[in-house]
Amino acid sequence: MAKEEEEDKLPDKDAAKEFYAKYEPKEILGRGISSTVRRCIEKETGREYAAKIIDLSTDNSEGHSFHDATMQEIAILRHVAGHPYIIELQDVFESSTFIFLVFELCKHGELFDYLTSVVTLSEKKTRYIMRQILEAVLYIHSKGIVHRDLKPENILLDDNLNVKITDFGFAKKLKPGEVLTVRFSPPWACGVIMYTLLVGCPPFWHRKQMIMLRSIMEGKYSFTSPEWADISEPPKDLIRKLLVVEPEKRISLRDALEHPFFHTMRLQQRKFDARQKFKLAILVVRAMVRLQRLRFTPEPLSVTVAKSDPYRIKILRKVIDGCAFRVYGHWVKKGEGQNRAALFENIPKTELKHLYVTNLSR
Ligand code: ADP
Ligand code: MG
Repeated sequence: MAKEEEEDKLPDKDAAKEFYAKYEPKEILGRGISSTVRRCIEKETGREYAAKIIDLSTDNSEGHSFHDATMQEIAILRHVAGHPYIIELQDVFESSTFIFLVFELCKHGELFDYLTSVVTLSEKKTRYIMRQILEAVLYIHSKGIVHRDLKPENILLDDNLNVKITDFGFAKKLKPGEVLTVRFSPPWACGVIMYTLLVGCPPFWHRKQMIMLRSIMEGKYSFTSPEWADISEPPKDLIRKLLVVEPEKRISLRDALEHPFFHTMRLQQRKFDARQKFKLAILVVRAMVRLQRLRFTPEPLSVTVAKSDPYRIKILRKVIDGCAFRVYGHWVKKGEGQNRAALFENIPKTELKHLYVTNLSR
């Protein structure tokens, strides 16, 4: 036994060294109970990653140790690898005191932080994100795994604001034929997440934890806050179906993806029309060019003004001046020039009008 431990230690030390030789750790991105996640740079390529560094020395748990838990997490991560919405494990270094898990970096961090920065998400964004979450969870289940810790802190966003499910620390591999019947199944968690995304606060919340727990157990929540007034019926209907107290009556993930809330987008996707898209693009470009040239665009031509007072319109004024120049062969003197408008006046002369007005006011 002692000999085995001896043998274990040598490669261990190398593993930690190996990590620092290959990666340069940078700032902290997040923390867990036993882990610190740091941005790191792969020295050879300059590529960025996220390293979850698990400190085994702080482990004073009995039975299922940090080490065993991390080994299980790694096994599950490898088992579910290769899906676009699941975090990718790039590298593992294992020493007796530390385990380093190198993940792809999610620049936008937690969905939770993103939500805090934007307060609430539109129905469209919620649809985009919820679809990815549901698809990812369905995929995880298809691999015989249950995540068991789905929450906005464990849902990360990459550069393109695409979802990456992470933290499989609580995940469990089901035995063949085993069905996990939990009160708060994944659809429930998805309902809570979806509610929170739309209005920025969770469905069940109370200062007093006991009251909060009771409302969770009874499934007591409402759509009464003012934000809900602007939200359409389909997302509310889906949330109602996800947040059903009895697990058997709750909508399944697969059926949730078929819910009308997701249909609008699917229809739009199916209706993709290259010609229409192209037309729209041209319109947008033309509008942008017009906006840019707004300063140089002539003022709008009004037929009424053009008829009664053409000289008031800049573009006509130019034409008139041009004609006058051609008629007289030279520019008329300034004083007279100002009166060129009079050529087109079919109303009483200004002086007369002036007299008329003063007469009236007497
Ligand atoms: P724990 O199991 O200790 O909760 P997590 O795997 O959830 O650890 O990571 C803790 C936090 O670190 C996350 O909530 C997140 O903020 C950050 N984090 C983890 N992985 C990444 C990653 N790949 N990219 C960016 N941030 C990450
Ligand atoms: Mg976590």
